[in-house]
Amino acid sequence: MQYRVIEIEQVHDLQCSNIMNRTTRVHKYLTKDLTVRAAAVVATDVVEEMRSIQSSFPVPTVAVGRTMVASLLMASHLKNGQELSIYIQGSGPLSSVFAQASFEGKVRGVSSHPHLQVPPELAVAGEKLLVAKSIGIGLMTVTHHLPMTGTPHRGTVELATSEIGDDVAYYLHQSHQIPSVVSLGVHLDSLGKCTAAGGILIELMPGHNDETAAKIEARVKAARAVSNRILEGASADDLIRDLLQDFELIQMDHDHTVEYQCRCSRERVMRSVGLLGLKELDEIIEKGEATEVSCEFCGRQYSLNTEDIREVRQEVYRESLN
Ligand SMILES: [Zn+2]
Repeated sequence: MQYRVIEIEQVHDLQCSNIMNRTTRVHKYLTKDLTVRAAAVVATDVVEEMRSIQSSFPVPTVAVGRTMVASLLMASHLKNGQELSIYIQGSGPLSSVFAQASFEGKVRGVSSHPHLQVPPELAVAGEKLLVAKSIGIGLMTVTHHLPMTGTPHRGTVELATSEIGDDVAYYLHQSHQIPSVVSLGVHLDSLGKCTAAGGILIELMPGHNDETAAKIEARVKAARAVSNRILEGASADDLIRDLLQDFELIQMDHDHTVEYQCRCSRERVMRSVGLLGLKELDEIIEKGEATEVSCEFCGRQYSLNTEDIREVRQEVYRESLN
């Protein structure tokens, strides 16, 4: 059994400007009988930070925002020092969306076209379908990074609806046989700024009974959009209470602040410049100009001089001999 929630957000004027109860942790709960676990987060600030750094347009902001929220929720079930990333590749104009989060609540995200203007042929399909249409059909890959072993665990599924929440639920079901509810929401104001973002992930663990499943399913169907609840001031705990109010819940320890964080470095940037290949690197060296590279996640600028590019070339050449 699998639950799906399609949440739809619209870009409209923000009526309620005083958002209280902003929490910056992923809140985690387990039912006393251990058959249901839930995680919820209000992630407005980190999604707005991503939007502001990348000056992203509405559809990419919502798509990346939802993916960031999903990765934060899933990563909260990992262990210390572990990370998880979600990579969506689709046939639509947005092409790809990526987000990465650590167990400790550090998150970053990007799409391949932050300045995507929705093509008119998609816009006629109606605002509500824009994210799914912009992603199109494709694949979702979830990578679980285990720093100790060095070998990441990867799972890929076809996109179910390209609304991201559904696709995560489909992934959990296909890869881990976990029926789940994934509800993600990102709300933007008329200027495209993120005014509410967050989500909830409820997973049914082995031993759950059908009655529990039916109860949660009915509530999810009746529930209001997460982004609207957050706009009203709902906290992560409120989002959980909306769906699990009469369950005996145990709050799990998860005292990590959610932050937008990028770990780019000069070394990583140099490695990525190496992907240009020997021919292009030779051309850059010949020109003798400094190469400006900016990190697409955080906007940090790196300036590489000819000496740096020579170093990159040498490394690429060395590797090509192996
Ligand atoms: Zn960066």
